[in-house]
Amino acid sequence: MTELVDSFRRTVKYMRVSLTDRCNLRCNYCMPAWGMHWMEKDTLLSYDEMIRVIELAAKRGVYKIRVTGGEPLVRKGAVDFIRRVGQVEGITEVAMTTNAILLKQYAQELYDAGLRHLNISLDSLNADKFAAITRGNQLERVWEGINEAIRIGFPSVKINCVAQKGTNDDEIADFVNLTRDMRIDMRFIEFMPVSDWENWRKRYIGIEEIQQRITEGVGELIPVYDGDVAAGPAENFRIPGYVGRVGFIHAISNHFCDTCNRVRLTADGKIRPCLFGKIEVDFREAIREGATDAELNDLFDEVLQIKPDAHNITMESPEKMLTSMTSIGG
Ligand code: SAM
Ligand code: SF4
Repeated sequence: MTELVDSFRRTVKYMRVSLTDRCNLRCNYCMPAWGMHWMEKDTLLSYDEMIRVIELAAKRGVYKIRVTGGEPLVRKGAVDFIRRVGQVEGITEVAMTTNAILLKQYAQELYDAGLRHLNISLDSLNADKFAAITRGNQLERVWEGINEAIRIGFPSVKINCVAQKGTNDDEIADFVNLTRDMRIDMRFIEFMPVSDWENWRKRYIGIEEIQQRITEGVGELIPVYDGDVAAGPAENFRIPGYVGRVGFIHAISNHFCDTCNRVRLTADGKIRPCLFGKIEVDFREAIREGATDAELNDLFDEVLQIKPDAHNITMESPEKMLTSMTSIGG
């Protein structure tokens, strides 16, 4: 079976799978306060349908699956699904991105199901600010989830913080200082434009500025090379004497499109070759109309043909935004 090589000679090895567009938080940069126009239940891909797509992708070289959402843990049966993903031949890495609200409850089951890689979103260490950003007063539950994951012994716990000017940029040093004693990866992610271009430009803060603030306010950032070429877009560093690592994801300022090795399966069964832009290929309808594996493989080829070379978003570019992170999974 031929590998998933796109028209710019990039090989797709990694698929992010969104289980649901629903969420138990309403982060202000991700969802409007009043909620969303949710996907109808019967438009969501069933777990069996997702596994079929993953099996086909794995036969063509995809080895890493990240389960995301919306909030993946709000969909019933998520733990069992993760176990099934880990059993697919060829899948050697299963990861999850979660807001950790339900993590304390599910961490042990997830570990037992084979999950080892956890990315946890956390944008403030201050309870009031966390409540304002997420429109949910539950910072304590997030920490309970993080501590439980560490107690159980998840080998990879990453905390992802979307940095926003005037919101949480005064906490950059506090976040980095978590790595003094905690064996975690603290990662800063550039804020991406979702629904409000002007607001985005005011709140956007680039990785270079974040790094400068860290070197001035905390200490030198020593590059760490762990030899994991497929680890993804983060660049990792360590503050001398600290046990954890600090990473940076330059989604905008220095995008990593030329090495992009991923596609995204949305909760309603479309494959998106790029986080930005609305191009997608509908697998759900094909599956429900009885497509054969060969026909679904043709759809994968279509995805490869339309995968763009780069998103080309800059502060100066004409307005160009993501549709919604909740259905695509970030
Ligand atoms: N609910 C889970 C969570 O929050 O971790 C998984 C889904 S969430 C859409 C995945 C990631 O997308 C989160 O780390 C979130 O911070 C990030 N995200 C959402 N909107 C974003 C934006 N406008 N810019 C940058 N990252 C964003
Ligand atoms: Fe929910 Fe994650 Fe979006 Fe926040 S970022 S609203 S937790 S899906």
